[in-house]
Parts: sequence; structure tokens; C-alpha cells
Amino acid sequence: MKYISTRGKSPELSFSEVVLEGLARDGGLYLPETLPDFSNRLGELSALRYQDLALEIFTPFMAPDFSVAEIAQLVERSYASFDHRSITPMKKVGEHWILELWHGPTFAFKDVALQFLGNLFEDLLKRSGNQLNIIGATSGDTGSAAIHGVKGKKGIKIFILHPKGKVSPVQEKQMTSVLDDNVVNIAIEGNFDDAQDTVKALFNDLEFKDQYQLGAVNSINWARVMAQIVYYFYGYFRWQEKTGEREVVFSVPTGNFGDIYAGYLAKQMGLPIKKLLLGTNENDILSRAFQSGDYSVSPVVPTISPSMDIQLASNFERYLFNLSGQNPEQVRQWMEEIKTKGAVQLSPELLSQANEEIQGFRVDAAQASDVMRRYHALGLELDPHTAVAVGAAEDSGLTDVICLSTAHPAKFEDTFKAATGDSPKIPQAIADLDGAETRHMESEASVEAIKALFIKLVSQA
Ligand SMILES: *Cc1c(COP(=O)(O)O)cnc(C)c1O
Repeated sequence: MKYISTRGKSPELSFSEVVLEGLARDGGLYLPETLPDFSNRLGELSALRYQDLALEIFTPFMAPDFSVAEIAQLVERSYASFDHRSITPMKKVGEHWILELWHGPTFAFKDVALQFLGNLFEDLLKRSGNQLNIIGATSGDTGSAAIHGVKGKKGIKIFILHPKGKVSPVQEKQMTSVLDDNVVNIAIEGNFDDAQDTVKALFNDLEFKDQYQLGAVNSINWARVMAQIVYYFYGYFRWQEKTGEREVVFSVPTGNFGDIYAGYLAKQMGLPIKKLLLGTNENDILSRAFQSGDYSVSPVVPTISPSMDIQLASNFERYLFNLSGQNPEQVRQWMEEIKTKGAVQLSPELLSQANEEIQGFRVDAAQASDVMRRYHALGLELDPHTAVAVGAAEDSGLTDVICLSTAHPAKFEDTFKAATGDSPKIPQAIADLDGAETRHMESEASVEAIKALFIKLVSQA
């Protein structure tokens, strides 16, 4: 498989190269040149356990750099850390289906991709003998999942920027209580978009990127999107066994557009997805884009679902590339408009084309809290992000929607209590964070400040 950049001015790369490159050198994001088609193999794939399904889906994307045996080994190692036999179990509660993606070590769906990416980095560095300095931005869950994916791994150092005071207490502790030498947490003044901008600027400084061998764990990294395709297939097969229906609808709580983009790709790869429902919180740039074509940036506001407190969604660029008919010139023009004017307006034709696949819904705090309260009464504890997916499914008027459940409610204990009047069940690993020793640094969000801090820490090591 060959990979190309959304902006058309970077060299074609192989899978291994793309994983290590992160952001393309022209500022774009890498995508596979073509997608494998699984539409004739659905029957055969439906019987596979999660790991074996992942192996089938990853193989065409990772060939020829990785053999089937190497991929199988990676997949087994990556999902051994999950606490459920099915990896991503599904249950029906009320009108809809809840696909639980948070059975990994940090209790959010980010583990599905980041456990795998951590092992993949380790294998690639073993092959090359190189070192990697990972720099990532987090709105809360990516940071802890990435840290747990690479802590203690040889040849890798990880620097995670989180917006100071804007992640939940559990999210913060999951990051700062990891005391391994190769882990650095930096609380920045500002919000997630500031952290993500800083990280992107460091990757765009090509001299710096090469000198320090920067690696990416944000969903600009293709491997993350790829790993997330699997649970759309897996969830679909479980749903089909129960309903006997053919065409499914997924509802996805969305921030950086990485999760839902994997669903879009699953559909292009032949999975019978009728529609993807995109749910946002009050940071509604994406739900607006899919309602009226208005993709215009507003200030980020803090909400009860902090992992989705994002305006500029990195992965939306990959979708724009598809929407433009794979036209890099058009993408470059749109990205320039976003940079200079903070907005792009999709034409009515493009909007209706986009709505064939994706519909946008805004689910505010009151509505999400109401969902949490009602599901609690039905006996299922939902976190505030999952509640956005359920709210979007309810607003669509459809039934039997698969709602992606992206985090364990214990990560957002205060919000859960406020919505339901009750405490969520607390897993032992989260209870153990109480009183744990923590360590972090602080910095302003400027590129210069982060660069200086980074250089100091790397040269100390
Ligand atoms: C990251 C995250 C999301 C949003 O996923 P994107 O891929 O950024 O759209 C939703 N819910 C939770 C709990 C998350 O951690």
C-alpha cells in the first residue's frame, strides 16, 4: 500500500514511513492511495474474534512492510491489556445499541488505537535502531492512552501537552501519575486548540522535526485511524446477529473527527453503513458544517464532555480531501481559507453529498445530562461523551442505532453525579489514582517556549 498527502506536495510513502512521519511535510495528512474492498468477504469476517478481524483489516494497509505473522503478533500484544474478552462488547439498552470501546487500560476508546500504536512504534524502532521523541496534544484521553501505550518502552520519549485545569481530575492523574523516565507531562496555559496548534507548528518545522525525530500520537497519525476501523466491522457483525438487518447507522461523539472518519472509511471499504450520525457538544463547528455547510471557527468553550472541546478538527482535512474528489489543490485552498478567514462554506452540492453519509447533531449539556439520567434509570451508566452519541441517535428519530461509547463514566465522576444523583462504579485502577504521586511541568503554549523546554529535556537525557 502506498500513502499520499491530502495536500499533494509530499512524497508517496509506505506504511512504516507514514507511521513515523506523522504530519506530511507539506502540512497535510497521509491517506492510503486506495482502499481495500471487503464487501464480498463480510460473511467470512463476521465469525472472527476481534483480534483476527483486526489482522484481516490491517493486512492490506500494512503490506508489504509487515508480514501477516508480524501483524498477528502485534495485534495479540496490543489487545491483551483489555479487560473484556470481546475487546469491544455491545449491549442493547432502550432503543439503541451501546458499543463499549473503553475496556483498555485508561478507560477511553483511545486505547484501542494507542495500545497498538505504542507496540508498532516499538517494532519499527527495533528494526531501525532509531530513537523517537513523541510530541502530542490532548483534550484529556489521548494523552493518558498514549502514555500508557509507550511508558517504559526503549528508544521512545513522550511529551504530552494538556490544557491546564481543563481536563477532568481522573484524566489528569492518569497522565501525571506515570513516573517512568520516558514520560513528560506539560500543562499549558490555553485550551486544546492552542496545544494542538503548537504541536502542529513543531511538526511543520521540518529542520526541528528531523533533528529530533519527532513522532505523532494524535490522529494525524494514520495508524490511529486504521486501528479504529476494526470496531465498526466488529460492532456491525454483533448487531447483525441480533437484528438480522443489513444496513446499520452509527452515532459517534465527535471532537477531532478521527473516530467518525474511521467509520466513513469502513463504509468505503464495503461495510453496509446507511448513515453516520455526528454528535458534538456546544463546540459545534462540525455539527454546523454538516447541517448548513458552515465550517467556521468560534472560541472553544468548556463543556461537560471535555474530550470533545475542540474547534479545528485535524481529521476533517482527510474528509475534505475525499469530498473534493481527491483534489489536493482544492484542499490547499480550503485549508488556506480556514487559516486566514477561520471559515470555509461548503456549497449546497457538496453539503448534500456529505449528508448522504454524515448528518450533524448538537447535543448540549442539558440534553446529555438528561440522557445520562434516563439510562441510569434503565441500569446503564453512561459517560457524558457517550451521552452525546445517544442524544444524536434520539434526535435522528431512528431506532437500533449503534452508539459508540467512548469512555467509562468514572472518568467524569462529578458530571455523572450531577446528572444522575448517584456515583458511577469506580474501577480499581481509577480508585488507585487517589493519593498517587504525580509529576508535571507547566509552560505557556507558545511554540518557542515548548521548543526550548523540549530541547532542554532531550539534551538532559
Ligand atoms: C477523543 C474522544 C472523543 C472524540 O473523538 P475524535 O476522534 O476526536 O472525534 C469522544 N469521546 C471521548 C471520550 C474521547 O476521548
